[in-house]
Amino acid sequence: SSKDNGKNRFTFCSLEMKHETLEKVKLTNSLYRALERDELALHYQPQIDIRSGKLVGLEALIRWTHPEHGIVSPGVFIPLAEQTGLINAIGEWVIATACRQGAYWHKRGLEGVRMAVNLSVEQFKSSSFSDRIESILLDTGMSPELLELEVTESIALDDSYDVVNTLEKLRESNIMVAIDDFGTEYSSLSRIKLLPADRIKIDRQFVESLAVDKRDRAVVRAIIELARNLDFKVIAEGVETEEQVEFLKSQNCDEIQGYYYCRPLPPEELEKSEIFNH
Ligand code: C2E
Ligand code: MG
Ligand code: MG
Ligand code: MG
Repeated sequence: SSKDNGKNRFTFCSLEMKHETLEKVKLTNSLYRALERDELALHYQPQIDIRSGKLVGLEALIRWTHPEHGIVSPGVFIPLAEQTGLINAIGEWVIATACRQGAYWHKRGLEGVRMAVNLSVEQFKSSSFSDRIESILLDTGMSPELLELEVTESIALDDSYDVVNTLEKLRESNIMVAIDDFGTEYSSLSRIKLLPADRIKIDRQFVESLAVDKRDRAVVRAIIELARNLDFKVIAEGVETEEQVEFLKSQNCDEIQGYYYCRPLPPEELEKSEIFNH
């Protein structure tokens, strides 16, 4: 009967949910150990000055090689780390590792190239966050003016954890702030001028259909114009084609990042790449 079917369906769903929860618990447990077992790594993706074609920045992107599952995407485990509070330990490891790598590369001749790291809102909940960053800079020898912190609009404008003050304080020590995935959240235009930021990153979703969608061209053009008038630098992310590069160049976008130039690479591979040795 239909009643039985309904019941079966319900049982099936709840079993599936239990299974999912169990998987989550297992993954969380292994994530706890991932840090100690050295399963986390940073890959770095070049950011290019659109006029000169020169390397101007590197974005650190975390990778986890799970002993059984292989590579787990940050899109999967970062939310998990955020839910469990593990993001604080992981986030600190990310900042320290990226700063150590940046300082090393700067000494080896990669002068003036920024190092960008992604942050989660949870990291701002600790009142000592900015002090921790300062001490990492000291420990690693990384120059503050070459460190960039990437946050989303909703983080940058979050009212609950003093985020704006923390970001302003960090900017006073010459650390830069970039607004990631710009344009994808529902923050009102009236608040854009309040962003405590140096740079805006145009989200990949707008860049993706530049060649085919006139409306996306209009949006990208408007973001670049708005950013310029508000004194923000602009970088486009997810750039994959020559056509996209040409359009962004014609609109005076400052920088680009994407597979067109280079995928995120482990340090030893990046060091061998053409862009790195240009
Ligand atoms: P995001 O910061 O917006 O990073 C950009 C994502 O786009 C990266 O995915 C990158 O590999 C990918 N990408 C770059 N160029 C292209 C392109 O031309 N085409 C396409 N299709 N994709 C491109 P990834 O590495 O999987 O990272 C996903 C997200 O995970 C990041 O988005 C960021 O929000 C988060 N994430 C990564 N590393 C960290 C970290 O260390 N800490 C925190 N809190 N979040 C991180
Ligand atoms: Mg980012
Ligand atoms: Mg992004
Ligand atoms: Mg993103």
